[in-house]
Amino acid sequence: MKNRIFVDYGAIAENVRRVAEHSGKGIFAVVKNNAYNLGLAAVTRTLTGCGVNHFAVTLSEDALFIKERFPEAYVLQLNPANGAEARLARERGIALSLGGGEWFREYADALEGIDLHMEINAGMNRFGFSDLREASEVVRSCRDRGLSLKGLYTHFALSEEADLSEHSAQVDLFAAFREALSPLCAFEYVHGENTAAVLLRDRRLSFCNFVRPGIMLFGYSSREPVEWLRPSLFVSAEVIDIRRLRRGERLGYGTSFAAERDMKVATLPMGYGDGLMRARAALPVYVNGSPCAVVGKILMSHTFIEAFDGMKIGDTAEIYGERVKIDALASRGIATNAEQMAALHIGRYAQAENS
Ligand SMILES: *Cc1c(COP(=O)(O)O)cnc(C)c1O
Repeated sequence: MKNRIFVDYGAIAENVRRVAEHSGKGIFAVVKNNAYNLGLAAVTRTLTGCGVNHFAVTLSEDALFIKERFPEAYVLQLNPANGAEARLARERGIALSLGGGEWFREYADALEGIDLHMEINAGMNRFGFSDLREASEVVRSCRDRGLSLKGLYTHFALSEEADLSEHSAQVDLFAAFREALSPLCAFEYVHGENTAAVLLRDRRLSFCNFVRPGIMLFGYSSREPVEWLRPSLFVSAEVIDIRRLRRGERLGYGTSFAAERDMKVATLPMGYGDGLMRARAALPVYVNGSPCAVVGKILMSHTFIEAFDGMKIGDTAEIYGERVKIDALASRGIATNAEQMAALHIGRYAQAENS
């Protein structure tokens, strides 16, 4: 195969052990969007294999997918459920997010027997209760109705920022909600920390008994690079052509590139149609250990790199791996690592290789 996208599930297992050790808390593994595109079935199998039993997904169908394969798994659907999804949640034992008074009043009669996790809005303004009085009323109403309110959580929107002062206020806000609500309900699950917040190890969140990371389980950091995380995604392509460009000659479509000097260019059979972000052109690829600049724009099916003397057709170019970390995109401010992971057409390559 000329292009190779490989997922190292062993690395994911190792990251789980390291995250558990680092946080000292239970892990609610976020496996939304097909486990960050690495394959929901394979990732869930890997995670359950190393003792993770709690999963969070956005969509009802993903929750169902996990429950069908791993009936013992505890699965939380993060997106607000509609009526059909609430029925499904009750039938299949899926926990639901309780993200606002409006939603609660709409569905309260349909929530009996379903584990509920109340979300507090710390400032992201996506979902969650913003008002303590309303949250308290809903907690009381859950109690009066005999509903199974099991969890309290929040999601931090600013834990990836360099300046943590606003994030810090959000931590205090969540702590205040928890302090006020816990006399009304003995929450079995209290969780808030995504990858960046896990890395911050904030002692003020020691009342949380679970962390809720996603990307770090796959070896990537949403803050500074972390040397104890093991990357799980490896992308390479084979050199399929090498040719000379004379000074002034163009390359690819359009007029955006003209060689400033005589040079050699190699072609790789992977482009944005395979999910390689065009912004990826800012980072080199490595052939036989040497960095080669990407030249011109990334095309749908092809990428050009500068060739060195001695490079041969059939040589392997490392696109993401030990030398080019997906995290480098983020540190260069080009894109987030999750964005590149989600874009790659992993299934065509990796699933064949791992099945
Ligand atoms: C995506 C997500 C996470 C995990 O975020 P990472 O930065 O990948 O660790 C946690 N909680 C919620 C609600 C999310 O949407």
